[in-house]
Amino acid sequence: MSVLEEAKRVAAEFEYSQEDLKKGVKAFISQMHEGLQKKGTSMSQIPTYVTAVPNGTEKGLYLAVDLGGTNFRVCSIQLHGNTTFSLTQSKVAIPRELMVAKTSHELFSFLAKQIENFLRTHHNDHFEAHIKRRKTMSLGESFRNEEIFQLGFTFSFPVNQIGINKGTLARWTKGFDIDDAIGQDVCQLLQKEINALNLPVKVAALVNDTVGTLMARSYTSPGRTGTLVGAIFGTGTNGAYVEKLEKVTKLKSMAESADYDKSTGNMIVNTEWGSFDNQMSVLPNTSYDEALDQATPNPGIQMFEKRVSGMFLGEILRNAILALVQNPKCQLFKDDSSSTNDLQSTTSIAEDSALYKPWGIDTSFLSIVAADSSPGLKVTRQELNKEFGVDAASTEDAEAVQLLANAIGKRSARLSAVALGAVVISTGNHVSRGGGDEDVVDIGVDGSLVEYYPGFEDYVREAFREMSEIGVQGEKRIRIGIAKDGSGVGAALIALVAADMVND
Ligand code: ADP
Ligand code: MG
Repeated sequence: MSVLEEAKRVAAEFEYSQEDLKKGVKAFISQMHEGLQKKGTSMSQIPTYVTAVPNGTEKGLYLAVDLGGTNFRVCSIQLHGNTTFSLTQSKVAIPRELMVAKTSHELFSFLAKQIENFLRTHHNDHFEAHIKRRKTMSLGESFRNEEIFQLGFTFSFPVNQIGINKGTLARWTKGFDIDDAIGQDVCQLLQKEINALNLPVKVAALVNDTVGTLMARSYTSPGRTGTLVGAIFGTGTNGAYVEKLEKVTKLKSMAESADYDKSTGNMIVNTEWGSFDNQMSVLPNTSYDEALDQATPNPGIQMFEKRVSGMFLGEILRNAILALVQNPKCQLFKDDSSSTNDLQSTTSIAEDSALYKPWGIDTSFLSIVAADSSPGLKVTRQELNKEFGVDAASTEDAEAVQLLANAIGKRSARLSAVALGAVVISTGNHVSRGGGDEDVVDIGVDGSLVEYYPGFEDYVREAFREMSEIGVQGEKRIRIGIAKDGSGVGAALIALVAADMVND
């Protein structure tokens, strides 16, 4: 068989048909529903205690900080009230020794110190005025609320959130390891160190990055329509959406003490959809997916994410390419000039090629290949040579790689559509409200995959049209827009709604 025929056979294993799509949506809606009712389900459906989304008219100056891994980011955000904002920020690397400090005090006092430096550099007037007032104030007199910066705290580690600014650390990830922080309220840990430095700052909200994305998009999107979903398709994938409060029935059995604004009738829910269908009742599966899963530290977990997001697509492609390379009947990357007899063709892949290394292909390679329309797929062939030590790949070889990359990218986009479509349908937003602005269903997205993979949104839209509930008419009403900077402006907006709650 020719290289192309073999590649087509493997690419066909990644096909995700209209029927699959419909089954996927149905299962997604049912798992969403289950997650709203009880704990311990495949999709966590975490209530965020954020009960409203902004419409672009919000105003004010807010602070946001982001602790997510290597860096700590501090920013202030001026919301102009006309869907625009200005942002000032500073970023510092977290010293290694603080990631594994003996006490959480060491880490959080460092963070508070960075906030102080930021305020002194960028908001010194406000800061000095506060210090002066503080000195002349009698004991027991409290500050007026507007003198205090409200801060949104994006904290990208697993927490059990129990209030809008309350959440206990479940465990550290990403190289952090500070024992005494486990089980503690991370907002409280930060607030304590802020108070020790007498800073005019209140930790008003604990922020998940998907919720930040939803809020950022809702503020910046055109018109006054609120956004329905915020979704991330980057290293990982996850989404948050606006749910009817009465449908989050598990809230009743959760911390009754948590106070939140019930008047809006809504609650933003963090789906944690990366773990949709860990039980594999409807998710597509191939031997390449299975090999990937086995190579991860958490086999059987995050099964949806492992078929969708940037961290994994490159490795799936690598597994698929290797299957062809190792197939003695397939001539991919074989050097036929040296084959005096047919059985002895040698491969033209360097021995130390990244193709042989687990995680050796980055997902950005899929984007390059999918976008390649150069004559003879020259760009792909050059890339194969430069990045993967494939000497003199033929045009046919490159076409085979392109077939595989496209199949994996398209399946990822169609699965993404399952998640987004299920949220649109389960919230009733597939039903027209009679036309006009009211009819727009706004979706905010963030992440390199959705931003840079060619045609990702087109594939998502095509899948929407194939869903009977949404269809051609419904798809036209759906607006998808990039929402940058969820941990900046998004976190600021959550601090804003949190502060409003307290003031009301
Ligand atoms: P994060 O999700 O960590 O905030 P990104 O949104 O930038 O960061 O996503 C990073 C992921 O996106 C990585 O897994 C990377 O392989 C993938 N990626 C980076 N560039 C591209 C690209 N041009 N096309 C597709 N995927 C990409
Ligand atoms: Mg990101």
